Amino acid sequence: MEETVPSDTITPPEDLTPDEKRSLLFNVSCSLEILMKDFDKDWWPLVSNIWTQWNSHTQVNGNVRKVFACRFTKHRVSSTRSKENIPNEKRRVTKIRPSKICNAKIRVWWLVSLKIVKVERYNNSSEHTHSLLESDRLKRSQATRTLVEKEAVKNYSPPAITSAIKEYASKLGLGASVSELKRKEVANIKYKVRGPMEAHLTCNSGLRSDISESVSFLIEKGYQVENYCVSHQSAKTTKGFVFAHPKQLEKLQRHGWLTLIDSTHKTNKYDWRLFTLYVRDTYGSWDVGAHFFVSNEDCDTVSEALKIIRSKCRQWSPRYFLLDQSGIEAKGIKKAFPGISAGEQQCDVILCVVHVMRTWMTKIYDKKTRDIMNAAMHKRTKALWARQHSPLLLQVTSTNPLESYHNELKRLTSFSHGLIGAAHNIINVDCKKRSESEVTAFDFHTKKISAYGVDNDIIEEIHKFPFPLQRLLVEEARAVMSRI
Ligand SMILES: [Zn+2]
Repeated sequence: MEETVPSDTITPPEDLTPDEKRSLLFNVSCSLEILMKDFDKDWWPLVSNIWTQWNSHTQVNGNVRKVFACRFTKHRVSSTRSKENIPNEKRRVTKIRPSKICNAKIRVWWLVSLKIVKVERYNNSSEHTHSLLESDRLKRSQATRTLVEKEAVKNYSPPAITSAIKEYASKLGLGASVSELKRKEVANIKYKVRGPMEAHLTCNSGLRSDISESVSFLIEKGYQVENYCVSHQSAKTTKGFVFAHPKQLEKLQRHGWLTLIDSTHKTNKYDWRLFTLYVRDTYGSWDVGAHFFVSNEDCDTVSEALKIIRSKCRQWSPRYFLLDQSGIEAKGIKKAFPGISAGEQQCDVILCVVHVMRTWMTKIYDKKTRDIMNAAMHKRTKALWARQHSPLLLQVTSTNPLESYHNELKRLTSFSHGLIGAAHNIINVDCKKRSESEVTAFDFHTKKISAYGVDNDIIEEIHKFPFPLQRLLVEEARAVMSRI
């Protein structure tokens, strides 16, 4: 049959929104003529979910004619696997989509010499028997998928990506088309996009090679690493490795007088625990002193790791360890730092006030008892006595800074990450912490305050002090001046 190119056509205006373009290509009531480059780039990706190719024909002159049927046409009946020899109880519950719901068809011409595309209704085909929204529920258009892919690369959570896309798409005039976008689809697309990017973080060749990969990666990044294992009486062994950057060990040595210690799980698929030592420098910045991974959290493993860190950092002489209520850590510390009994400096364990209070408060229901216990704790605890006599300990009463370090780390990790993935993430957060504390130290000496309403000669005097003091002094100066 000889087919002709239709003659009665309209050219849509150029300033249509994507949603308007979609509705023109959904219900094709008259023939449309669109520049080929616009059609392929800006029109078709918007409706790729609505239409599926029915047939295609290339003419001698290079023109291409394709017929598309509505996705709801689905002329083949879904297989129910009834002929296969699978017992009924072993069959998966699946969904099938009924066929022949809609018979809408369009014909599209790519007219190569004219560089235009013509879209027309196919031989008196019927209207859609459903709305555009229902087509969008069935499948996403390429345009929507592209939007999701662009956002997914940025690696935030699927719900956040979904809401960002909905907001962004409505600005693009694509709001109607993404209204049916589901979080689960976003999660799937994200996995497709991010999966290959994160291959180096997963390590699928077993724990042994994961460990050796992680160790060599850390060494390559300048960290000191030491593998160790501890055998227990039960013939079980616990494995682990200690790692620290020389800059971190330097901080531990200089500021480790008070050391925070805490562990976190869920940073890798083996659920090896990550322990971190955290110290505060003279400028008030918290930073990492050392890390260690252990396959199992027990007193001997913790103590062994601390001994290794101590051997790498001989001048580190902690007077106080601050930790949340972990008996394992406390015992491990006592073993690694026996104190006066071994002819060394005494080392005390202080428990995090926040954690202690939390536990107490959950166990004591009677208010009067709570108050009494509370008062008793603040009066009698030896560690708290020490705290009342030390300006630094008065300021540092909880492991919260270290907890927020671990939380920052966990925002980067996923269940699929191996130890190598955790190592990558730890190095990233470590670098950030180090540079933050360097900035604070730099500001401490070089930053100059400017304050409106304080005389210049006073400000110049104030500039002779470190930055944090300048701030206090300016407030004082302002208070004095407002009184004059
Ligand atoms: Zn249809």
